[in-house]
Amino acid sequence: MTPEKLFHELLGLGLNWEVVESRFERESGTVFLEIGETAKLWELARCPKEGGLVFCYDHTEVLTWRHLNIFQHRCEITCRLPRGKCRQCGHVFRVRPPWEGLSTHFTKEFEAFALLLMREMPMSKVAETVGETDTRLWRMLFRQVEAAYAEADFSNVCCVGVDEMSIRKGHEYLSVFADLVRKRVLFATEGKDQATWLKFVEALEKHNGHRHAITQVSMDMSPAYQCGVRDNCRNAQIVFDKFHVIKNANEAVDQVRRAEVRVGGAGVWEALHKSQWLWRKNPENLTEAEQERLAGIKNKNLCTAKAYQMRLVLQDIYRSAHVGVARRRLQVWCRWVRWVARFYKANLFGSMVKLAQMIENHLAGILAHWKWGVTNAFMEGLNSVFSATKRKARGYRSTTHLITMLYFISGKLRFPQI
Ligand SMILES: [Zn+2]
Repeated sequence: MTPEKLFHELLGLGLNWEVVESRFERESGTVFLEIGETAKLWELARCPKEGGLVFCYDHTEVLTWRHLNIFQHRCEITCRLPRGKCRQCGHVFRVRPPWEGLSTHFTKEFEAFALLLMREMPMSKVAETVGETDTRLWRMLFRQVEAAYAEADFSNVCCVGVDEMSIRKGHEYLSVFADLVRKRVLFATEGKDQATWLKFVEALEKHNGHRHAITQVSMDMSPAYQCGVRDNCRNAQIVFDKFHVIKNANEAVDQVRRAEVRVGGAGVWEALHKSQWLWRKNPENLTEAEQERLAGIKNKNLCTAKAYQMRLVLQDIYRSAHVGVARRRLQVWCRWVRWVARFYKANLFGSMVKLAQMIENHLAGILAHWKWGVTNAFMEGLNSVFSATKRKARGYRSTTHLITMLYFISGKLRFPQI
């Protein structure tokens, strides 16, 4: 068996194509496989427009496709692709070779391999590993994700979570929509306003979903998203998820801490200096040193410690088994916060009172947690998913790059090759 015959078999070229020449270029360490079409190709080729008989019109210049390495050596397929011409309509077209992937520079097998690597490591690292430019690899990923996303089916989507993700600190945002039952990202778009909902609903319906099939939407208390839901999905119940309520409580505690430091007093600064992370943690997650410090601060009877206590109680309310109990305890909690706040000057508890007000205003949505409470975990996870996305797309922070990577990592799309 000649090397050409062997490669013909290994590539699975069939009857229409043959390996004309195989050679190894020592300087660049590259194996070149030159492929040409056989006469057989023209027997079966038909005009892509209306199926008429075609003949070989001419050939393109030499094109190359990166293929999987042979041993440790880079391998490239080269071919002057034939162009056919229709005998009836005169249409001239490029014959599509069976090895070509979705991008014009890579073979199918190489694309599959690169996709596997992209699952595991950042793009820059993949580029380094396979010896290709990031730009080419990104272009390949765009095409793959675009093709797979077009096939995605959203017909079962009924529970949706939405959250805003910051692309850069304090600047641009993406709104990310997720299927909470099948735990996958459905859609992402720039911005965090009401209009993002319309875009989501359009995408949903393009993939066989339906806006009125959505029965539950889990989110933070942003008015823009609430309007978006009301305007677009009439059957959806809004659920303010626990994750965001507790996050708001953490922020409120931090504001109390900052206000208290500002107002000052004996020993306040020493006690609260660099303590913000202490208050964010739950007691069971504190290290021994942190526990000691916290115990010391607690004895000083500071507002921050009281606010922290309030947060812990709020968190405990989420452990209530029944919605009736939760409702009562939330109401009591709000009264308690207001009552405590009255005893302190300079509006030290302002942020906690605001939180209580917010909870009262959104009580129905917060209590919906007890009715549906199954699906919040994925919403919490979304943040870490997005950090992973940013890590993988390091150096490429355009929304297109990030959304493509997000769909690739967590869209649960089907890539037929891998
Ligand atoms: Zn034709």
